[in-house]
Formats: sequence, C-alpha cells, structure tokens
Amino acid sequence: MALKHWLRGALAALMIASAHAGGPLVKTQAPGYYRMMLGDFEVTALFDGAIDLQPTKLLTNTTPAQVTKLLGRSFEKEPVPLSVNAYLINTGDKMVMVDTGTGGLFGPQLGSLVANLKAAGYQPEQIDEIYITHMHGDHVGGLAPQGTLVFPNAIVRADKHDADYWFSEANAAKAPKEMADFFKMAVASFKPYIESGKFKPFDGDTQLVPGVKAVAARGHTAGHSVYVVESKGQKLMLWGDLMHFAAVQFPQPQVTIAFDTDSKAAMAQRKKAFAQAAKEGYYIGAAHLPFPGLGHLRSEAKGYAFVPVDYAPVKN
Ligand SMILES: [Zn+2]
Repeated sequence: MALKHWLRGALAALMIASAHAGGPLVKTQAPGYYRMMLGDFEVTALFDGAIDLQPTKLLTNTTPAQVTKLLGRSFEKEPVPLSVNAYLINTGDKMVMVDTGTGGLFGPQLGSLVANLKAAGYQPEQIDEIYITHMHGDHVGGLAPQGTLVFPNAIVRADKHDADYWFSEANAAKAPKEMADFFKMAVASFKPYIESGKFKPFDGDTQLVPGVKAVAARGHTAGHSVYVVESKGQKLMLWGDLMHFAAVQFPQPQVTIAFDTDSKAAMAQRKKAFAQAAKEGYYIGAAHLPFPGLGHLRSEAKGYAFVPVDYAPVKN
C-alpha cells in the first residue's frame, strides 16, 4: 500500500515536471558585448548585428566555385551572416569608440550597437572620441540615423581622404548607381557633427589620444584607416574592413571584394597586415569577423588561420 502511494506521488511529480518542461521559444541572442583587458585599457567589442550576404556574388579575384569550396571547409553556406562589430576602448582618461555600426540603416537584423553599449554598462553620452575606419554606412550609420547626434559629447575623427571622397557631389554623380546609397549615408551621418563643429579629420598616420593612433591603410576606400591600441606592451590592431569573409580571405588574402574603391591597394594592405600580425603576435580586431572579432593570426599553408580569443572573466 505504501509503495503504491509512493508510486502515485512519483508519477504526479513527473507529470508536473513534464508540464513545465516546454515553453515558447525565446529566440533572442545574448547581449552583444565582449570584454577584455589590454594592459591598463578596457576593450569592449560591441555587436551591431549581422547582415546576410552572398560572398560568391561579392568576392572578386576568385571564382564562385572556389568561394563555395572555402565556405564549405568552414561549415558555411550562403547566405553568410556577416557580423558588424565596433570597439570601445576605455583608456582610463578617454572613452574611444572605433566605428559605430549601421544605426539600423541596413534593416532590423542590425542596429543594436547602442543597446549593446548600454548592456555593457555605458551610455552614448560618455563617449569622448569616435574614430571611423572608413565612411561606408555599416561603419558610420550609427552616428546619426535620425539626423541627430547619437553621441552628443563625442568628437568624430576620420581620414580627410575619405571625407574628400564621400562628401564630393562630383564623385557621387560619377559613381556606379549601386554606390549612390553609400554617398548619401556618409553625408547624412556626418552632417550634424560637422554642423556642430565636432568633426575633425586627420591626414594619414596620426597619434589621436595616448595609446591610440591612426595608421593609413588605403585601398578599400580612399582614406581607410586602421587603429593601433597599445597599453603596457600589449597591442591591438583594429582593422576595419581590411577583410570581410574569414573563411575565404584568411586562407586566400589575395581575394578582393566588390566594395573596394581600389582592390589592388586593398589587397596589398590586407597581405601586409596579415603578415605583420602573424609575425608579431599581437591582437587583431575586425569589423566583419564573427563577433567579437578579436584574436590572433598564425601562418598556415599559403595563408593564415585565425585564433579567436577565449571567452573568460575579465581579470583585474
Ligand atoms: Zn564594412
């Protein structure tokens, strides 16, 4: 009798447990920030979202068959979700953001940078400096998607060669039709900052704040820049769009992309950056590597392999 009673109780408990086991699928991603220390600096990678792209249609100096084969080696098939990452560096004295994501200009799968900045414990008003790698909409769209300053206390800096190119009505008029939106987005994103005296272009290699400097890496655009972050002997190179598709361009750095203003120069910059990173062993971060897009490079076969950072607590 006691056993029967116990069994009935156990069965009831099981039924309750199974009644609570199901539930609607949540289908949201984890907050998109990742944090690490670089010497005395705190580096926070910020996820804006991911854009579904077809590298067989975009990559040049290769063939669709070759691209498909390389994607397969990385268990990827089209469309490939290309991350859009930005980086925040708290030097202790300054809050520096490198690139600003899309601001929602590329659809609802993207535009989460500000939400993720807040999730990471910061507010847009705290940003002192914004360094732009280049003026494509997925890097500058977050500056002012509604026409007003998202980062009201920030000075925005970018190479003057990009400003001269993207703000030129003559260049916009003679560019291919599919590039028209790139010009419009660049102009609209910078307008409120220019009008309030907050845009300060630089020309080539420039020390910006202690520990952060711009280095010209022109090719993808006329004024494409990478940013070197250094503290206590540790170094991080933020590459912007020196590369787009990891599965293809790490093994084959010669592969270029249709968005390049000057593909040959872009290829030369990528090869130089890959070789230097593999040789010197510093951290790299890139706008379109799978989030957080931080890690190291090593030489492998005729190209390179990417070794992502570990996901670990931040050490004091
Ligand atoms: Zn980009």
